[in-house]
Amino acid sequence: MSGTTVVVLFDFDRTIIDGDSDRWVVTEMGLTRLFDELRSTLPWNSLMDGMMKELHSRGQTAKDLKECLKRTALDPCIVAAIKATHARGCDLRVISDANQFFIETILEHHEVLGCFSQIYTNPSFVDEGGRLRIFPFHDLSSSPHACKLCPANMCKGLVINQIQASVDKSGKKIFIYLGDGNGDYCPTLKLGEGDYVMPRKNYPLWNRICCNPMLIKAKVHEWSTGEELERILLYLSDTITIQDNISILHHSV
Ligand SMILES: [Mg+2]
Ligand SMILES: [Zn+2]
Repeated sequence: MSGTTVVVLFDFDRTIIDGDSDRWVVTEMGLTRLFDELRSTLPWNSLMDGMMKELHSRGQTAKDLKECLKRTALDPCIVAAIKATHARGCDLRVISDANQFFIETILEHHEVLGCFSQIYTNPSFVDEGGRLRIFPFHDLSSSPHACKLCPANMCKGLVINQIQASVDKSGKKIFIYLGDGNGDYCPTLKLGEGDYVMPRKNYPLWNRICCNPMLIKAKVHEWSTGEELERILLYLSDTITIQDNISILHHSV
């Protein structure tokens, strides 16, 4: 029995799915013009809530939205990686600046929603009138975060700190963080020496890590394709578990 839990933290857009779920919905549902008009006037999170208002006023239902989300591309290798790491006892979580409705719809469609123990994202629900509402993850009025790296609605570094504090009490944890964007840099800085970060190659997170690798304590393993993500993630989770079993054996001899 291993004493260490591997906690795998996934960003969602451009990490689990190949593209960006917000952009996908905007393009596929014919909202591009309005989106571009309002882009400079509103924070992203409020803008997406506004887009959902527009969809609703055009008579599009939450069911239409679901059908649109189900067509997003998810690499079969990434589905396999999620299922395999879950089956091996890793604790899988999503940290994303998309929203609950989009993420759950897509993961459920690919039959991997149950593999995740937690999803940290902007809360959303379908109101009585059938409109999807999207809210910020952090309450902007009562508890704004002080992080300068992150957008006001969500600091993923703060989320990592909370996870680290909560799991500290229940045995040794090693984190593997997978991401692509600027919003994944803050949580990457919070990882320790025993942890791993898997940035998507040639994307903003990877660029920022490469600019100043000395700032990163975690070991860095880049990936480009779903096939690489699967291979590296399984290799890392296996290696961590095997090393841990060896150290337990040494202690018990
Ligand atoms: Mg992303
Ligand atoms: Zn932050």
